[in-house]
Amino acid sequence: MNIKTPINFSPNFSTTRRNKKKIKYIVYHYTGMRSENKAVKRLTDVNSNVSCHYFIKRNGQIILMIPELFEAWHAGKSNWKKDISLNKNSIGIEISNKGHEFGYENFSKAQISSLIKLSKYLIKKYNIKISNILGHSDIAFERKKDPGEKFPWKHLANKKIGIWHKIKEKKLKKYRKKKISNIEMFTFIKYLNKIGYFTKNLNNNKKLTLVKSFQRRFRQKLINGKIDRECLIIAEKLSKLS
Ligand SMILES: [Zn+2]
Repeated sequence: MNIKTPINFSPNFSTTRRNKKKIKYIVYHYTGMRSENKAVKRLTDVNSNVSCHYFIKRNGQIILMIPELFEAWHAGKSNWKKDISLNKNSIGIEISNKGHEFGYENFSKAQISSLIKLSKYLIKKYNIKISNILGHSDIAFERKKDPGEKFPWKHLANKKIGIWHKIKEKKLKKYRKKKISNIEMFTFIKYLNKIGYFTKNLNNNKKLTLVKSFQRRFRQKLINGKIDRECLIIAEKLSKLS
């Protein structure tokens, strides 16, 4: 399969070509801007210092902004497993959406079908592990909420894009909001660490954003920052996949 896209190059990239083998992650974002045009302008403006490899418009059109073998500037300060600052070893995909600040909307069907096509192409080309397909909020939970709780992670996982727990909703519902012990709270954090989240130096505030970030990705029905039994069983299952 090949991806043919229109090009709108961004000047914001590191000019050293990277080895194909360096690419091990895909990171999804939403643009979080008032309009799609503004988002495109910002990502291609030399003064913004931000960019991505691919941009997906509301109508599903995919635009190439940075060639894959150059490092785009989309992740910022970030951590996953043992990796720090993921720009150097990832492909960044921006999906047009106003985001939590300006009116978070459902991703369009056209966007998701383009995203699936593009992701499959990249996964194959760079041999990317499904556990290395991430959202910006996974790797920078203190600062970021994107792509957020409307992003269809479960649907993508059905297409072998990203991990999922596959626990039935009926079972999950029983454990939603059910309290767990203090020891189980620690176990939960341990599972998160195993999945790949950065769990060092957690104060209460950081812990809250970490739990919310986990929920935005894996327990999208309730984002409250509280660790309940549903979160615990999901995390346990996922920790075995990572
Ligand atoms: Zn982002």
